[in-house]
Parts: sequence; C-alpha cells; structure tokens
Amino acid sequence: MSTNRTDVRRLAQRGSNDRNAAYEILDTAMVAHVGIVDEGFPVVIPMLCARDGDHVLLHGSSRSRLMRSLAEGCNACVTVTLIDSLVLARSAFNHSANYRSLVVFGHARALRKLEEKRAALEKFVDHLVPGRSADARPGNAGELKATLIVAMPIDEFSVKARRGPPEDKKTDMGLQVWAGEMPVFTKFGSPIPAPELPSDADVPDYIKAMIPDR
Ligand SMILES: Cc1cc2nc3c(=O)[nH]c(=O)nc-3n(C[C@H](O)[C@H](O)[C@H](O)COP(=O)(O)OP(=O)(O)OC[C@H]3O[C@@H](n4cnc5c(N)ncnc54)[C@H](O)[C@@H]3O)c2cc1C
Repeated sequence: MSTNRTDVRRLAQRGSNDRNAAYEILDTAMVAHVGIVDEGFPVVIPMLCARDGDHVLLHGSSRSRLMRSLAEGCNACVTVTLIDSLVLARSAFNHSANYRSLVVFGHARALRKLEEKRAALEKFVDHLVPGRSADARPGNAGELKATLIVAMPIDEFSVKARRGPPEDKKTDMGLQVWAGEMPVFTKFGSPIPAPELPSDADVPDYIKAMIPDR
C-alpha cells in the first residue's frame, strides 16, 4: 500500500512499493532497526528480524520495553538496510553506496497462542541458520511465555535501492582518478565450537553449507 508517508520523494526513481523486492530484502537481512515513540521521544533499536509471509517477525523478552510497546500495538517503523557496494566516483561529492532498503510503518500484533509462537520462533531460527530448528530443542512453555513475538504487517511500506556505477559529472570524466564499485559481502567464517562440546563433535552439514567455498 502506497501512502503519503511511503511515497519516496528524494530520488524518487529509486523508490518503489514492490512487494517482492521488500520480501527479498527481509529474507537477506539479519537486522532490522525498529523505531517507536517512547514517552514522547523517538527511539530506534536494532533487532533480529525474520519474515513470515506478509509480516515481519520480531521477538524479545516479555519484559523488554520495546517488545511490550510493540505488543500493545504502538505506532512503529521497521527499517532494514543492505549495503551491496561502495560507489567510488571521480569527485568526492558523487561518492555513494549501492543499497537496498525497506521502511515499513504500522502496528504489530502480538502472537499469543503457544503453537503460533513456537512456529514463529522456528521461522526465526531457520531464517538465520536454515535447518537449525530441526536440530535445536524447541522452546518449552516457560520459555515461550517469557518471549514476546510480534508480527508487523508488510502493508504500508516502501523500498528504495541504488544500483550501478558512479554518476560523475561530464566535466569530471577525464580526471585520472580510479572510479567504480567496491562490492560489500557479509559472510560466515569457520564455526567456533562451544567450550563444553566434546572435541570430536561434528559440525552439522547445514552449518557447513553456510561457509563459503564449500
Ligand atoms: C544486532 C542486534 C540484534 C538484536 N536482536 C534482538 C532481538 O531480536 N530481540 C531483542 O529483544 N533484542 C535484540 N537486541 C537487543 C536490542 O537492541 C535491545 O537491547 C533490547 O531489545 C532491549 O530493548 P529495550 O528498548 O526494551 O531496552 P531498554 O534497556 O529499555 O533500553 C533503554 C535504553 O538502552 C539503550 N539501548 C538499548 N538497546 C541498545 C542497543 N542495542 N545498543 C545501544 N543502546 C541500547 C538505549 O539508549 C535505550 O533507550 C539486538 C541487538 C543487536 C545489536
């Protein structure tokens, strides 16, 4: 849904309300920045995020100020940012970044049923480490009670993205300055076993699959 506050005004050609692009950003991201107004002041807090269909999932302690506010349905804004590359122009002024970002406005709904919460937590775990939920012990009733999980509809949202090479002025094109894109990647390194694990404990295949060059 496009509304006055989701219409991208600055460099509008980079903006869209493309739902699939929004999903792709959420499915790639690990972190969302969640903004609320608390006692009259804006506060923006980083959180892990996942997607369940057309909702953003957020979770945290039942005692968290942020989670309680979200569960009560406060006005909220969820922002997700992916940096794809740094863009080095010939002029300092035209340096930029290639990025994909998403802003979602709305009100989250707290998941209350135990089964609904368990399924959402599995989505969370599998979003971060595909295959992990089949391996890890599921949350018990006490743990689920101590956890608030909210689902924010991806309804009023905008996507903005920049792609491509630097955009230098014609008058700068002849400058003898290197210009181009510096790709940015987030990648996993070798897993570090927990200290209590037996020394011969195998790293599961679903974890090995996350490490580059395997
Ligand atoms: C990458 C990342 C992922 C996270 N994922 C989750 C998650 O999925 N669920 C979850 O509940 N929490 C997560 N956290 C922790 C989260 O950022 C908050 O600390 C937590 O949710 C408590 O928020 P609150 O507003 O209820 O805390 P409060 O303790 O009530 O916040 C009070 C004040 O503490 C400061 N503060 C709180 N958190 C931070 C912070 N992260 N960095 C700097 N200052 C801070 C701010 O000034 C804030 O106004 C994550 C943090 C990071 C960095």
